[in-house]
Amino acid sequence: MTLYDLNKAKVLIVDDQPINIYTAFHALKEHYEIFMALSGREALAFCEKQRPDIILCDVHMPDMNGLQLCQTLKNNALYADIPVIFITAFTGPEDEIACWEAGANDFVRKPINKPTLFNRVKAHLTLKAQSDLLKQYVYLDGLTEIYNRRYFDETVNELYRSCMAQRRAFGIVMFDIDYFKYFNDHYGHLVGDDCLKQVAKAIARLIPSQSGYLARYGGEEFIWVVLDMSESELKARLESMAQAVSDLHIEHEASTCGKWVTLSAGALTVLDSVQFHKIEDLIYEADRLLYEAKAKGRNQVQYASVINQ
Ligand SMILES: [Mg+2]
Repeated sequence: MTLYDLNKAKVLIVDDQPINIYTAFHALKEHYEIFMALSGREALAFCEKQRPDIILCDVHMPDMNGLQLCQTLKNNALYADIPVIFITAFTGPEDEIACWEAGANDFVRKPINKPTLFNRVKAHLTLKAQSDLLKQYVYLDGLTEIYNRRYFDETVNELYRSCMAQRRAFGIVMFDIDYFKYFNDHYGHLVGDDCLKQVAKAIARLIPSQSGYLARYGGEEFIWVVLDMSESELKARLESMAQAVSDLHIEHEASTCGKWVTLSAGALTVLDSVQFHKIEDLIYEADRLLYEAKAKGRNQVQYASVINQ
């Protein structure tokens, strides 16, 4: 969804009473794509499969109520920016306070006044689209269209902290294009830019959507923040990435590693370890492994894992 096609927005309506869903559906169906869930758990399952742009939520539902659902979403970095509007028949000011405290973005009273619901939803979707657009400018690298250094710096600490707290595997991979300075000197910076774009795309394509993200770390250095990936899968992915870059067949006459542009990488995974207190220590170690890969002749990956220490 962008600012210019709000009508493609996905609206998730969560209510244990189908009649209430039906009313909200009728207020919005002409304008948006509507999805429904009959419980908090169903709503969460939906979010994992396809991210809604906004959630309209009942408060009182059996099992997981609306407040719990909202809190769960707002505490998860993946979903925290999805606006949540409660649709509810309030009985007192403390109910409103409970909604705000759960992280609500707004609420609409039952019985639903259709124009009010439509305009509130539109206002929040517009805000969300504006904020998404701004983030795109702030967090994407203009050349390669992968995440930039700022995005990495602002997200990596929190990701590391939450992975360690939940005993999930976390990794850092530093990539460097071999002899890129010579490449630029030999072919010129415009060809160099095109090479960076192609390499970034080839690597990014091989990162599964739930396995972290790729960012441009520096000039010809990329960094992959690896989430929830086993050692064997990571190694296999890194091999595929090196192969994919070499398969681009970007001529590199100034390289001693071969005919084509190649990659060196330093990869480190951490599971359930207290060895690294700060993310900077991990980056330092991945960088050291990258240096080792270069010292051993480039066009290779140096890998280390730290488990249960
Ligand atoms: Mg209810």
